[in-house]
Parts: sequence; C-alpha cells; structure tokens
Amino acid sequence: MLQGNADAALYRTKADGRGSVRFFEADMHRRLRDRRALQRDLQSAMERGELAIHYQPQSRLGNGVVGFEALVRWHHPSRGLIAPNSFIPLAEESGLIISIGEWILRETCREAASWPRPLQIAVNLSPVQFRSRNLVQAVISALAHSGLSPLRLELEITESVFLAETEANLAILHQLRELGISISMDDFGTGYSSLSYLRSFPFDKIKIDRSFVKDLAERSDCVAIVRAISGLGRSLNITTIAEGVETIDQLDWLRAEGCNEVQGFLFSPAKPASEVAQLLTRFGTRASRAA
Ligand code: C2E
Ligand code: MG
Ligand code: MG
Repeated sequence: MLQGNADAALYRTKADGRGSVRFFEADMHRRLRDRRALQRDLQSAMERGELAIHYQPQSRLGNGVVGFEALVRWHHPSRGLIAPNSFIPLAEESGLIISIGEWILRETCREAASWPRPLQIAVNLSPVQFRSRNLVQAVISALAHSGLSPLRLELEITESVFLAETEANLAILHQLRELGISISMDDFGTGYSSLSYLRSFPFDKIKIDRSFVKDLAERSDCVAIVRAISGLGRSLNITTIAEGVETIDQLDWLRAEGCNEVQGFLFSPAKPASEVAQLLTRFGTRASRAA
C-alpha cells in the first residue's frame, strides 16, 4: 500500500515535470489502480480480439489516395473505445508493446495484401520495439506470411528512437530499409533536434506535425515552419506529408507551400478494414478532386 502510494506520487511528479513537488492525494491512488487494471486488461485484449486496426487515407496532392496509415484501436468490453494515446504508453511501460506491435504488423500486412489496389501502408513503431532485438525478424515474418511486397510497407518512427541506443537503432533502420521498406519520421518538428536526425538516416518521408498544420490559416509562424520543412524535404529529396488536415484553407496553404501529401479528417478519419475498399471507390475520385 505504502509502496503503491509512493509510486503514485512519483508517477504524478514525473508527469508534472522536473522540479515540481507533489504530495500524495487520494485520487492519485485511484488513478494508479485504474492504470493497473487497464494494464491487466490489455494483457488479454489481443487474445480476446479487442484490438483492431483502423486505416486513414493519405493523398498525394493532385493524385488522390496513395496509401493508408494503420492506427490501432482498443474496443474495451466495459470502457468502450480506448484511444492509442491512452494505452500505448501502458503497453510500452509493461513491455507488452513488443507482442502487440508484432500483432499490429502481422494484421496490417495481412489486411493490406487483400486490398483492391497495391497502395502503401504505414505502420507506427514504438521506440520500445527497437529494444526487442527481434524487430527486423518480426517485420520479415509479417511480410512473408502476408505475401505483401516490402515496397508497399512504410514504418513510422519518432525521433525518440534516437534518444538511446542510437547506433544499434540506426543499424536496425538500415536493415529494414535494405529490405525495401520505407522509413518515415513522424510528428516532425516537435522534438529536440530533428535536423541532425535527418542527416543521420536517409528518411523517405517527413510527417509535418499536426500542431503546425492546425493554425496554418491564422498564424504566420506556422506558415514559415511548414514552408521550411517543405523546402527541406525538396532539397533533401524526402517526401513531405502534412498530418491533421481538417480544412480547405489548410489544404490551400499546404499546396502553396509545396507539401507533397496530406492526411486528415478533411478526407477521412481512420476507418475499419471492412471500409477500405469502399473508401477507395468513394475517395479515389473525391480525394483527387479535393486534394
Ligand atoms: P500519429 O502516428 O501521429 O497518428 C496521427 C493521429 O492523428 C491519429 O490519432 C489520427 O487519428 C489523428 N488524426 C488524423 N487526422 C486528424 C485530423 O485531421 N485532426 C485531428 N485532430 N486528429 C487527426 P490516433 O489514432 O488516436 O493515434 C494517436 C497516436 O497513437 C499516433 O500518433 C501514434 O503515435 C500512436 N499509435 C496509433 N496507432 C499505433 C500503433 O499501431 N502502434 C504504435 N506504436 N503507436 C500507435
Ligand atoms: Mg503515425
Ligand atoms: Mg504523427
């Protein structure tokens, strides 16, 4: 109990940032208990078939849908739909992300292999998956079982992959790329020193973070940042894609600044696999008109 309370206070202090001092509050204990319950439930979520992959279209400006991003969803039996931001960190903490991540890779490759068109499929990788040392083998096995061409697979990483074990993780990324897989830098512009990471690995794609896209129409600093990233992509021969595009205004700005691809609610949120074919028929035309 005492240990649990101390954990709770520590957890809260960490969440509040360095230097803040927090004492135990009753609700911290409740929150920690809640986290632990969720963590326990997550252990059996995969076997109980509660996890599903949803797919969000990505469009090339002027060309319509060119691929999808796989986004995991958890249909909890009593809590309903739980967003990945609420359970991926739990899975990372417990190490469960290794088996969940392998399942996501297998499931996504299997589903993408049956699509009516051979589009790109982007899968998010957690930095913790790089610690398993089995990542490359898991990717090879997902491709082999599904028959999906490695040329269709894209893996999205964030720069946190470079914060520890940099050399080992770079070696893994190179092995993946040698298989023909593309590597994208997710949430670009939100971390510490993204520019040096761009020099240390030949990324295929930069995903411009949603926070810069959100205020494009209102704030000139966001325009400047999007312009800089698009220019960087052009000079380094890296495709740029904007995340979280919600309005026509934002789309117009992105087009004007030379961004290559777009993804966001303006086109579609992530949808279950059963709706992909339908999305392609409906969207192929609508997206190419809009984008
Ligand atoms: P992310 O990889 O940056 O994914 C983009 C997130 O933005 C997704 O949230 C997507 O639904 C959301 N989004 C897309 N378009 C819009 C828009 O126009 N407006 C707004 N407001 N949001 C938009 P989601 O699915 O909740 O995922 C959140 C994060 O969870 C992801 O961020 C990714 O870091 C993580 N995640 C999701 N699926 C996986 C997975 O399979 N494995 C791992 N390791 N992480 C995942
Ligand atoms: Mg992503
Ligand atoms: Mg992102």
